[in-house]
Amino acid sequence: MARDGTIDLIIRGGKIVSPSSTIEGDVAISGETIAAVTAPGMLATIANEIDAMGRHILPGAIDSHVHFREPGYEYKENWETGTAAAACGGTTTVFEMPNTNPPTGTLEALRLKQERAAAQAHVDYGIYGLLDEDNIDILEDLIAAGVSGFKCFMGNTFGNLPAPSDGAMLEGFEILARHGYRCTVHAENPSIMARRQERMERAGRTDPLAHLAARPEVCAVEAVGRAVAFAEWTGARLHIAHKSSKDALYILKDAKARGVDVTVETCPHYLLMTTEDMKIKGGLLRVNPPIREPGHGEALWAALHDGTIDMIATDHAPHQRDEKSAENIWQCDCGFPGVETQMPVMLTQVNEGRLTINQYVQWSAHAPAHAWGCYPNKGVIQAGSDADIVIADLSRGRVIDNAHLHSKSKITAWHGFKTTASVDWTVVRGRVVVREGELVGEQGWGKPVKQQMPPPKPNNVDKTMQAIIEPPRF
Ligand SMILES: [Zn+2]
Repeated sequence: MARDGTIDLIIRGGKIVSPSSTIEGDVAISGETIAAVTAPGMLATIANEIDAMGRHILPGAIDSHVHFREPGYEYKENWETGTAAAACGGTTTVFEMPNTNPPTGTLEALRLKQERAAAQAHVDYGIYGLLDEDNIDILEDLIAAGVSGFKCFMGNTFGNLPAPSDGAMLEGFEILARHGYRCTVHAENPSIMARRQERMERAGRTDPLAHLAARPEVCAVEAVGRAVAFAEWTGARLHIAHKSSKDALYILKDAKARGVDVTVETCPHYLLMTTEDMKIKGGLLRVNPPIREPGHGEALWAALHDGTIDMIATDHAPHQRDEKSAENIWQCDCGFPGVETQMPVMLTQVNEGRLTINQYVQWSAHAPAHAWGCYPNKGVIQAGSDADIVIADLSRGRVIDNAHLHSKSKITAWHGFKTTASVDWTVVRGRVVVREGELVGEQGWGKPVKQQMPPPKPNNVDKTMQAIIEPPRF
């Protein structure tokens, strides 16, 4: 609430969406917070109102997986352009990955990133700390200094950060379990991938589908299984990044049934693109894990519907055009921007009947807010929550165009995709950041997200490194 309790902004008319309902109503905002959600016409008129009649009012999306490249690769993206893209795409909170330069695995690197983010962000953010071979002894310092969670690269991706050994990973999980923190993993087996890529390169395979052939589904089956084993043993909370294949879903379904605290994301490109697209778009679609053959997308949709997959993230991974355009697939950088296109693309799927608008809110906002300990500050439109709100029009779309992206990366796999929905307004903690599709926010408005994870539930504490390292006294 604003200190004097006055209403500063009213969003009037419109259909307010939660995971369980869609109701016509008005939203009153006081300062940075939602003051009231009422039936239509209950609030007295004020000067500052938005007419949302005929449109949908959604909680801003919360994206668990973006790469904003700063510090180190600012020519690809920086915090200003990355969060501008997020705001224009209806994403009001992002969690940003640590494979920058320097990687976010030391206190100095974290402080540098925190400064850059604070000066530039248009939307709220969390910053991931890196969990790697050499920084296990400072994980607690990174927690104290404000990381939102950790990222462990079990498999290689941009930046080529080496995967930690299983010993370091397990010890890291023991520490995170004591603090209740969640660790996101890029779950692919690096040695299988490196060996296959090396053999194929020597054999002269440089075609786009060689990338897929280097990373067969078993890489994910093995790594997801290993990550779940370590999480279950230690009690560390786990998040599986960018689930791309149907093959490891049974492991996650079983783990959830046993009560393992594992959350899972997939991305629009895995739901909607296949190797048929890769044959046309080539290196543009090179991404880790790879876009797979037809059939995986349907299984991922089913896993969202049955709760095995919890949420949609984007793996927003911007690069410059020349970095995506090499003839030789191994010379194309992995990933493409997605934070600005997720909501229009997924709302188009709502219009096509593949999910309900309520499921969209569950998967884009409610579930990530819970996973990262932000609920009910974020992920819901109700009195007392942060006023992170999107007004979307599900009756008017447009063709996604590289030239219109706010990211520094003007090359996306979604170029040419016809949406039937658009993001018109984005409000971040009460302030209008996007007005009728135009960025109007000032950089520096975004703040670190406040989190309150549930109490830690460590397992096997008598067998942790901390417990065994002292000689026993008999
Ligand atoms: Zn990523």
